[in-house]
Amino acid sequence: MHDVLVIGGGPAGTTIASLLAEKGYCVCLLEKAHHPRFHIGESLLPMNLPLFEKLGVLEQVDAIGIKKYAAEFNSLKTSLAQDTFYFAKATNTSPAFAYEVRRSELDEILFKNCQKKGVIALEGMTVTHSDLGSSIKKTIAVDAQGKQHEFTSKYLVDASGRDTVLAQQLNSKQKNPKHKMAAIFGHFKNVARRTGRDEGNISIYWFQHGWVWLIPLKDGVMSVGCVCWPEYLKTRDSDLKTFLQTSLSFIPEVGQRMKGAELDGEVQATGNYSYQSSIMSGDGFLLIGDAYAFVDPVFSSGVYLAMQSATRGADLVDQILRSTADNKQRVKQFEKSVAEEIKAFCWFIYRFNSPALHKLLMSSDEASQHPVKQKLKSAVISVLAGDAYHNSQIRLPLLAFKFLYFINILLEFKLNRKFTLFKKQKIGE
Ligand SMILES: Cc1cc2nc3c(=O)[nH]c(=O)nc-3n(C[C@H](O)[C@H](O)[C@H](O)COP(=O)(O)OP(=O)(O)OC[C@H]3O[C@@H](n4cnc5c(N)ncnc54)[C@H](O)[C@@H]3O)c2cc1C
Repeated sequence: MHDVLVIGGGPAGTTIASLLAEKGYCVCLLEKAHHPRFHIGESLLPMNLPLFEKLGVLEQVDAIGIKKYAAEFNSLKTSLAQDTFYFAKATNTSPAFAYEVRRSELDEILFKNCQKKGVIALEGMTVTHSDLGSSIKKTIAVDAQGKQHEFTSKYLVDASGRDTVLAQQLNSKQKNPKHKMAAIFGHFKNVARRTGRDEGNISIYWFQHGWVWLIPLKDGVMSVGCVCWPEYLKTRDSDLKTFLQTSLSFIPEVGQRMKGAELDGEVQATGNYSYQSSIMSGDGFLLIGDAYAFVDPVFSSGVYLAMQSATRGADLVDQILRSTADNKQRVKQFEKSVAEEIKAFCWFIYRFNSPALHKLLMSSDEASQHPVKQKLKSAVISVLAGDAYHNSQIRLPLLAFKFLYFINILLEFKLNRKFTLFKKQKIGE
């Protein structure tokens, strides 16, 4: 009988397990894989750093990671081709850098750390079912030999990532109707990097079929991925590797950087990765990280959001286990904060491919040097750093940025209409 049972030993699961063990609870964590194991999600945010510090693993992460001082955006859609967003220019005090890491290494550090804190963390244990009906939760897991094990706990946390164990069981998983993208990715050797301080920056390239990431890892390998529109994916008539290489060749600079590239491992794909569960919590259970929702990797927010919801989740579970009082209000507050933090990224994610946003974000003209525009950009960088939720200083500038965006959309719409009318008149003549 454990106080808390956690399903999944990724960033969300290991974070909540560690924090609850520190508070004195008897925590058991079940992980289906064996660390170290491959996982996608290698680019982190500055606001991950305080969370690593809280867990006591910042030094270890520093040893496996390469410092990421900025996110670099390249657009083929506007004449203003490139801009680098340095985290040091964010409004307020988020750290001036983040890390690029191999997730196999990061997740192993987090897993071992939670064991060190007293969590009974078992690998090779796949959770197949949890009985949510009674006050004592009964969870069934199967080990590598196919043997069934039963665990009982006062509280259950689902941190099973994209497997979404509880959301599947509750039938609460909903695909995101606004965002039906897919990603193809792999690790490559011999890809040209930026130099000096910029070596660890993530490069993002927009192109006609979606966007591409280049994430430099510490050992000289580059993680390369292509996020594509579903219509484009339907045109695939080759194997994944060829399709990825063809897609990358549409972007001249990426082609240049990958001239001598060699694939290191396999090319993998994940489709329709955007979803949300309509249930975040219930009587004696909670869904955190990707087990609750995932929107898009473009702003490297996944690991941060997973660990942040786990940190808040630890406080909530602690309060629930400590008091017999009605915790409805606390649960509501927790759900609101998790949803709002995801929402802060969503505004940008849903407009990421819009030329109006490119124009606003990446202008290098004289007007963009204006102090007011710089202030707006600093606020956007705070969002990119993961500092959107607590930072009250950016609320007004972000509102102004969004207002400017809509003015741009309106102007674009008017121009398009004028052009169509003009074309119709010409055809009439
Ligand atoms: C294409 C793509 C690119 C991405 N790039 C980035 C990026 O650059 N930066 C970033 O921050 N995020 C990125 N992400 C998101 C990131 O991968 C996730 O948000 C993050 O890993 C979520 O952490 P988690 O702990 O919730 O889930 P996970 O990291 O997925 O951990 C879940 C764990 O649960 C285990 N598990 C699953 N089912 C069971 C079961 N039945 N029983 C027991 N254990 C189970 C799994 O083995 C796994 O170890 C990307 C996502 C995609 C799809």
